[in-house]
Amino acid sequence: KINVRGIRKQFGDLIVLRHIDLDVMAGEVVALIGPSGSGKSTLLRCLNLLTIPDNGELRIGEDSFVFGKGSRLPGAKVQASFRSRTGMVFQHFNLFPHMTVLQNVMEGPLTVKGMSKTKAQELANQLLAKVGLAEKAQEYPDFLSGGQKQRVAIARALAMEPSVMLFDEATSALDPELVAEVLQVMRDLAREGMTMIIVTHEIAFAREVASKVIFMRDGVIVEQGPALQVIDQPAEEATRSFLSHFH
Ligand code: ATP
Ligand code: MG
Repeated sequence: KINVRGIRKQFGDLIVLRHIDLDVMAGEVVALIGPSGSGKSTLLRCLNLLTIPDNGELRIGEDSFVFGKGSRLPGAKVQASFRSRTGMVFQHFNLFPHMTVLQNVMEGPLTVKGMSKTKAQELANQLLAKVGLAEKAQEYPDFLSGGQKQRVAIARALAMEPSVMLFDEATSALDPELVAEVLQVMRDLAREGMTMIIVTHEIAFAREVASKVIFMRDGVIVEQGPALQVIDQPAEEATRSFLSHFH
């Protein structure tokens, strides 16, 4: 369960997030949509403290932190704890090129979680099978397609056993014919009850998979609600105007 209260983030003179409130229940799939520069990536990065909010309160499971004047910055321990609860998948896959696919997936459990090599390998093999890449375990990332790399990145994030998966335009950098295989893995995860926040321009996918859709603009949540309502019958003119670009 995730609670975001009054999160604010400013870069120089630019206010990127203004008082964001957001709740995500366990097992819920939330799609975050909105124009370029609206603050979607910044909001995701705030959730795992890759970006430290200026103000507000953040709670993920048992971890919580209040940001802002008077209160301290989150220490290394708090940051590590938030990060271990969130699995992040980026547009670019950021795999370790000098490691095999299997080693890429084992790395987190081994170094961060202190899992034994046997256990980490077992877990990695299991996750690679789940994303349909069991036969690529010994391959190096450079020899994989973009869609395969992204599926490895998803397996690697899952290996940390996060309580929420954060996807930031996970399919935007892929050739069109490779998008479907990654969306299928995401769809499977959603069906299994994984809690997910998905930043995406795949509106049809958001409509299908998300229980809740959030439309952001200029650092503000303009509209949020059930996916079918927000996408098919948006209440706000700004949402309607944004969605009209996708038809
Ligand atoms: P896109 O759809 O293009 O990915 P976005 O909704 O993810 O956009 P963000 O990446 O969150 O938008 O950026 C929001 C605004 O914050 C942009 O104007 C961006 O230039 C600015 N910004 C983001 N990160 C930084 C940073 N580290 N320093 C300064 N400005 C930043
Ligand atoms: Mg972004």
